[in-house]
Amino acid sequence: MYINQYPWLKKIYIEIIKNYKKNQLHNIILIKSYNIHNTFTIIMEISKWIFCTNKIGIRSCGKCTGCLLIVSKNHPDFYILYQKKNTFIEVDIIKNTIKKILNTSQQYGSKIIWIPSYKKLTIYGINTLLKIIEEPPKDTFFFIGSSINHNIHKTFSSRCLKYKIYPPRENIGLAWIIKNTNIKKKKKSLIILRNNNNNPELSKKLIENNIFSLRKYVLYNIRCAIIKNNYFILLPILSKKNIYIKINWIILLLLDVLKFKKNFFTFLINIDQLQLIQEISKKYTYNFIQIILKSWIKCQNKLIHIQYINQELLILQELLKWEYNKHSK
Ligand SMILES: [Zn+2]
Repeated sequence: MYINQYPWLKKIYIEIIKNYKKNQLHNIILIKSYNIHNTFTIIMEISKWIFCTNKIGIRSCGKCTGCLLIVSKNHPDFYILYQKKNTFIEVDIIKNTIKKILNTSQQYGSKIIWIPSYKKLTIYGINTLLKIIEEPPKDTFFFIGSSINHNIHKTFSSRCLKYKIYPPRENIGLAWIIKNTNIKKKKKSLIILRNNNNNPELSKKLIENNIFSLRKYVLYNIRCAIIKNNYFILLPILSKKNIYIKINWIILLLLDVLKFKKNFFTFLINIDQLQLIQEISKKYTYNFIQIILKSWIKCQNKLIHIQYINQELLILQELLKWEYNKHSK
């Protein structure tokens, strides 16, 4: 089974299957995850199992017509309310799907409506769903995926059975990276994992796209900037491509400096950069690091939430703050 590749997802999969077997599965299931793609994996695997005609225990066969129709997303009893980027799920799409379920006698058995992303629902869509789930069509299950931090409408949330997926424990994530990427050294894998908030899939993506290999270059230049007291040399490095990730590396480095100052050595993220952490720690006060750290976090938020912002100017402002306070200690 595909889900076997992600051991930390299996618990939820097994629990849902067991409840289905006992006819105790809630009709509306909301799965929130640190990585929304995990919810796709779980929901696809559950759907495959439900429609598989050769299942054994909790396993689907992966070969029967039921399994193949789910994989190709063509099963007549499997409805996906998916919307393209920057568009929302129209109320009519929801109503028409329910009409189809009520009016057609497709293959005997369950029906699944999958909403891959909760944030694609408008308030009208949510209200329509609320009415539908008051009296849902027989044997129909709604699976809804969402990012872990996305706020869910209170009433809607109260009608769902909720699951939350958190990143796996560090040792599990570490073993997964070593198994699934070309990074085989434990220390290097640990640095990548910690730099990505223990998110193994994101770590893998950054390794495969050769983005993580830029980190050392960025950190090396931060060291040069600090030694030369010239922060403007960082501008062309930071304001080109992958700006958000590069700022995240600065934020994590500054967090390490704060931890270092408080002697919390076991929680350091950049364990290969002890000299740099020590140098920044010596040069600046705790309060100053706190101030520029907050400022970089604000800058990162602006980059995420404000469209058409002048990124170069924003970064320049941050570097000026650093430059201006260079003799702070
Ligand atoms: Zn099958």
